[in-house]
Parts: sequence; structure tokens; C-alpha cells
Amino acid sequence: MSFTDTHTHLYLEQFKDDLDTVIENAISSGVNRLFFPAINSNYTDLMLDLKKKYPENIFLMSGLHPCYVSSNYLKEIKHVEKIINSNEIIAVGEIGIDLYWEKKNLDIQIKAFEAQIGIANDHDLPIVIHCRESFDEIYDILIKNEVKNGGIFHCFSGNLDEAKKILDLGMKLGIGGVVTFKNGKIDKFLNQIDISNIVLETDSPYLSPSPLRGKRNESANIKYIAEKLCDIYNLSFQEIADITTENSKNIFGV
Ligand SMILES: [Zn+2]
Repeated sequence: MSFTDTHTHLYLEQFKDDLDTVIENAISSGVNRLFFPAINSNYTDLMLDLKKKYPENIFLMSGLHPCYVSSNYLKEIKHVEKIINSNEIIAVGEIGIDLYWEKKNLDIQIKAFEAQIGIANDHDLPIVIHCRESFDEIYDILIKNEVKNGGIFHCFSGNLDEAKKILDLGMKLGIGGVVTFKNGKIDKFLNQIDISNIVLETDSPYLSPSPLRGKRNESANIKYIAEKLCDIYNLSFQEIADITTENSKNIFGV
């Protein structure tokens, strides 16, 4: 059995004391493909070191997270491209717009997002989108800027109408802990979305699925998300693993 955690930040400080155990737990519970979205250049060296240590299990993205867009964003975006040019990178991410933490810099968040869509297109890579309280803004940009190689709306937590709009753009949905939340809402309509459009993710260390909500999340917890999808799609655990991992291969090419 092979699960793919398409969005996990295991390189963050929250794992500094027990990272090897966390990775071994994931692998021994079948979550043996771990995709690391980037945040900014501060974490690049650590991400590259971990890729060297676990070359079969870890796959890296390069990108500037919208919450880290500031006046130095042009320099950061040069770094994003430099890393793509000299390393094995599977996607540009995570990129997008976040209006929950900061509304004042929307103009440069948009510029950074558009520039990174361009980089993804130039390098034939998919993108991984971070969208928080910004669906309309992001949708507008995706209508204006063609995304040639598709990608993922990470941690999808919108409504059915938004899900359909995303699929119409050729993008897929990253489904995480929110699907297990009592008030998460997406579990009510996900069965109307063909499972070929879904990949799994934990967003570790954030967004622990129920019943672990509030605790540090880790990639082994994919099983709680997969169990919920068994109910929603009336499929076996093995089928959920096979289908969602196959979907991740189709999108990311690895
Ligand atoms: Zn993330």
C-alpha cells in the first residue's frame, strides 16, 4: 500500500526533535511518498538535506508562500527559479493569496503569484495553490494567466460551486483534515466530485484530522483522511490509497 502526502511541512521547527521518527512512522504506515511545499528561502537548505537523506520518499517543491511575500519578493522569486534550475523539483508551490493574515499587501501577493505561475509554465511544472479567504482573487488570476501543467488547490475547504470552477480550470483538489471536521462541510458534497480529481494531504504540522484536532499533525495521519474518504466514496482503504497515489503521479509526474 502506498499513500502520498502531497502537502507536508516536515522540515519545520515543530519536528526538529523527532523528525526521523516522524518520517519512519509515516513510511511504516504506508505513507511513503512525502511532498514538501516550500515557504521561503530560509528553509531551502534543510529541505535539500532531507531530500538527500530520504531520496526515495521525499519530493520537493520550490516557491514563495503568500504569507511570506514582502518587499524583498523579487529576490525570493529569483531564488525559487534558481532552485528549480539546479535541483529535482516537482512543482512550484506553495503559491497563491492569503487575505486572512494580511490584506494590505494584496498588490505584491498578486505580482508574486503571477510571476510564479510564469516560472511553472517556463519549467513545465504544475503549481500548488494556497488559498485563504481569497477564492475570487485567485480565480480571477487563473482566468487571466493560463496554468499549462495544472496543479492542486491545497487544503480545499470551499463549496461545491468553487470545487467545480477549480476542476474546470484543469486543477485538482488537495483534501486534508478539514474533511474529517464536524463543521468542515466539504464531506457533504465531495461524493459529487469524481475521485480522479482528488489527492490527499496532511499539511503537517497544521490541521490535524479528527480525532487529533489541535495536536501537531504528521504524515502518518493520512489514514484518518483516507478512512473518511472510504465512507464518502464507498471504496476500500486500499482503493483510496491506490487511486489517490495514482492521481498524484498523474499531476506531479513522479
Ligand atoms: Zn502548506
